[in-house]
Order: sequence, then structure tokens, then C-alpha cells
Amino acid sequence: MSANQFTHLEINVSNIKHNLRYFRSFLSEKTKMLVLVKAYGYGHGIGDFSRILENNGIDYLAVAFPNEGIAIRQAGVQLPVIVLSAGMEDYPLLIRYRLEPSLPCLETFRRFQSEAAALGEHGYPVHIKLDTGMHRLGFEKTELEALAKELPLARSVRIASVFSHFAASGDPSQDDFTKTQIARFQALSSFLASYLDYMPLRHLLNSPGIERFAKEAQYDMVRLGIGLYGMSYVDRSLLRPTAYLKTPILQVKTVRQGETIGYARAGKITVPAAKIATLAIGYADGVNRHLSAGKACFSVNGHRAPTIGNICMDMCMIDVSGIDVKPGDMVTVFGDDPTIFELADILGTIPYEILTTVAQRVSRVYVF
Ligand SMILES: *Cc1c(COP(=O)(O)O)cnc(C)c1O
Repeated sequence: MSANQFTHLEINVSNIKHNLRYFRSFLSEKTKMLVLVKAYGYGHGIGDFSRILENNGIDYLAVAFPNEGIAIRQAGVQLPVIVLSAGMEDYPLLIRYRLEPSLPCLETFRRFQSEAAALGEHGYPVHIKLDTGMHRLGFEKTELEALAKELPLARSVRIASVFSHFAASGDPSQDDFTKTQIARFQALSSFLASYLDYMPLRHLLNSPGIERFAKEAQYDMVRLGIGLYGMSYVDRSLLRPTAYLKTPILQVKTVRQGETIGYARAGKITVPAAKIATLAIGYADGVNRHLSAGKACFSVNGHRAPTIGNICMDMCMIDVSGIDVKPGDMVTVFGDDPTIFELADILGTIPYEILTTVAQRVSRVYVF
């Protein structure tokens, strides 16, 4: 019997460490490691999870929004934290919590530098984002020239790092473009560095970048995201799942032929008698409703059982005919079987979305 008989996302810390070792194996010893903990740590949690990363030698964290960074500070984590998508109105808040902005254009740079000056800051760390082809956020060449001219007067800030982001580094058919991005990064970051009397960190590689371009573009730091959470773009068998979504069976019942299961009577019993288990998890917990009606199987007591009927908000039903189950038995929605990859394929999405849509009301349980 499982110790945790409630719906939870189990985080396997030794598998996290395994995956971390895999990505470190591509890097020289002095290369720093930033881990992305945006979107609630890709679902793995934010405060407690960041502390685990801090204790495992990670050098930097990055989040998307200020509230994620504040949660890290409230957990007592001291690591530098880059906030990738802060709005200009958030800048005083960032400074209050010692969170470091990513600045993607001249306007944001000027605004942050004047907010920092107004608060009496000197050399507050900021991170300059370069657009090398993603065309989402980042400085382009002409704006960077303007920035370079303003730097000597911008004493309230210090450029802690210069970075850029790949658009398709996991896809071998796009390698020519990825190499173009590397060349642009080399040129733009060197240009900016030539205007500074100190050397900012440079970083470019994301998870597939680490696996595929660590020789030519390692620079001073790498940014590990989905890889830490078990996704390899080279060979998935080398990595381990890190998050296991588990839920207990609330009730088991026998339902006769001709009866239906759940809302809209969507699940019809076509055999003389089916054994149906009701689970304590629904779409509000992150079990996508498109997995209804047998589109996915979950695993219980070593067997796979298909969903039946429509997934409800807080519950769903699976067909456990022929499987020995009882209330309290734990069902795995994803983990080893099915994997996040299988669910992503069924839903026509990417594993990132499976992990990041587990609701906050699902408690995270760290297993060491
Ligand atoms: C999310 C993100 C990453 C990590 O991407 P993965 O594909 O998860 O490795 C790296 N850098 C930036 C700027 C990001 O936004």
C-alpha cells in the first residue's frame, strides 16, 4: 500500500540528480549551470524545489514572472534569479527581492537603469537578451550599438550576463539555422563586451543545445530546462522521469451492459459487466479532458486501464475490468507508464505542456 493515499505529484529527486549528471557530462568543469524553474518549476514546484537545486550545485535560476522569483526568495533560496518576462512596472519589485531582470531592448534598459538609480543602486545585475533569430525578445544589432554608447553613464546597473535563445536546437534539419544563431551570438556578444571594462557571463545553450552543441557554443553558462525533467532530444532512454502524477481509487463498482458512465452518458458499457474505478483527479488537476473515453490508459497495480466516459472536473473513471483493485490503490496518470511523451503524443502537444499543466492544488511530494 502506498504511503501517500491522496492525489499528488511525486518528484523523484534521485532521478533529477541522474538527469543533472547526464547534462553535466557534456560540460567543462568551470561552466556554470542555470536551471529554468519557470511555470512552477515545469510543474515540479518552486520554493522547495529551488532549494533542492541550490543544494545540488546549481549556480543560477530563471523564472518567467516576478511572483515566481518572490516564491523562491520566500523559501530562503539565495541563488541569483533571472526574471525573463517581467514588465517595466515590476522593476521596483524585482529590486526589492534582489531578482535580476532580463532586458530585451533599449526602452527596458533605460527604464530599469533609472529605477535602480532612483533606489540608490550601483552595479545592480541585469541580463541583456540578444535576438539571434528567435524573434521573440531581444536586442538587434542597431539597438545594441545605441546601448553600447549609453553604458558608461548607466552606473546603477552592471551587465551580469549576455544571452540568447535557440529556436530549433533540438532539430537536426535546422542545424544550419542553429549555427547561424551561434555565429550571430558570437558577433553580438563580443561587440557588446568590447564596450565593457569587465567580462559578463555569456550563455546560449538550452537543453537540446547542451546535448548537441556543447563543443562549439558552451560559453560560460548553460540553461537547462526540459532536459532536467527527463526529455532528451538525442536518446530518451538515457534520462529518467522526474514527476509522477498519482491518485487514489475512491470507489470500485460493477456496471451492467446498457448502463453509462459519467456526464453526458459518454461512456457506454457494451459488455455484460464492467468493473469501473473512480479516481480522485480531474481536468482541474491537469488531466486534460481530451484524454476522456479511452484515449489514454493509466496504470494501476501493474496493469494499464483506459479512461471511460468524460473526465470530470475533480474525478475521472477508468475501466479496471479483470484487474485486482480496491479503494485506496494508487493509479499513475503519468510517470513510467504512461510517460509524459505518450500523453503528449495523444494530445498532439509537447511534454512541456503535460508537466506545466498540473494544477497548483495538487501537492508536490519530494522523494529523496
Ligand atoms: C525556457 C527557456 C529555456 C529552457 O528551454 P528548454 O527547451 O526547456 O531547455 C532556456 N532559455 C530560455 C530563455 C527559456 O525561456
